[in-house]
Amino acid sequence: MLDLAQHPHRRFNPLNGSWVLVSPHRTQRPWQGQVEKAAAAAQPEYDPQCYLCPGNARAGGARNPAYTSTFVFDNDFAALLPGTPAGAWQRDGLLMAEGEPGICRVGCFSPRHDLTVSRMSVPDLTLVVELWAAQFAELGALPRIGHVQIFENRGEMMGASNPHPHCQIWASATAPPEVTREQQRQAAWRGARGSCLLCDYLAAERESGERLVMENECFAAVVPFWAVWPFETMVLAKRHLTGMDELDGAGRADLADILHRVTACYDNLFSVPFPYTMGFHQRPTDGEAHPEWHFHAHYYPPLLRSATVRKFMVGFEMLGMPQRDITAESAAARLRASQ
Ligand SMILES: [Zn+2]
Ligand SMILES: [Zn+2]
Ligand SMILES: [Zn+2]
Repeated sequence: MLDLAQHPHRRFNPLNGSWVLVSPHRTQRPWQGQVEKAAAAAQPEYDPQCYLCPGNARAGGARNPAYTSTFVFDNDFAALLPGTPAGAWQRDGLLMAEGEPGICRVGCFSPRHDLTVSRMSVPDLTLVVELWAAQFAELGALPRIGHVQIFENRGEMMGASNPHPHCQIWASATAPPEVTREQQRQAAWRGARGSCLLCDYLAAERESGERLVMENECFAAVVPFWAVWPFETMVLAKRHLTGMDELDGAGRADLADILHRVTACYDNLFSVPFPYTMGFHQRPTDGEAHPEWHFHAHYYPPLLRSATVRKFMVGFEMLGMPQRDITAESAAARLRASQ
């Protein structure tokens, strides 16, 4: 009999069609690998060198206004540019390239340099949710924009060069491949079963409770059955919404509440400001209704067993498939205990 708490096994991710190898018997093995240096010291409330603080000059030459709440601007070093021609280039169908027009913005969550989502108040975070919803609506309505990706990198370990609380918004002509995979699998599920993949998944998780970390009226956070990163979580809308523009006032406050609690839980886990990449997956803005799409967020934190030991995706994971030792069930239990 296969015991998911004891035996090596692989788990399927129905949302993107991939597999993850789980090796629960290895959790006792000694660690002799890289130990990261502990997280940086506390930040000042205002940093005159920070290009995101109110009133400061940015590297591109512009100066930030003396903003007192949230603030959004076009990225001075954008990866995507609005005037890019959309033409295609190819050679024998073997080498292919396509122009990708787009817009990259930066959104500051607060004028305070030293805050984090885990330490911001829920009313202030609700203003951040308002900013995200407005940006999704504004950028998504542009004729050349087919997808809007909102994400936050936190911590040097995740490549965040500036500790000031902020997100990035990358709006592109085409939906990126990870989004397209999720969209196709949600559409296929709806076609085959007549229901929503993530509504069905969340119902199963709430029934078992094994991987459920927390919930409020409108949202739930789970360690997905198919999680790759040690303490990966997904935040799912409990109602079927295709994007955050469909959230009402209570829903926006509940999203702020659960993001605050999930990140506080992460900080508590190893008693450090927990690094992560997080982002929202919403319906593509290609003019279609996308009733198959279920609004959710992913948290991908790299820490493995302490503040200084991170997970690497190397070897078998680059060549074959991702692998984890600690099970999703025990990760969820540890996160629940860290609230
Ligand atoms: Zn700053
Ligand atoms: Zn749904
Ligand atoms: Zn997703």
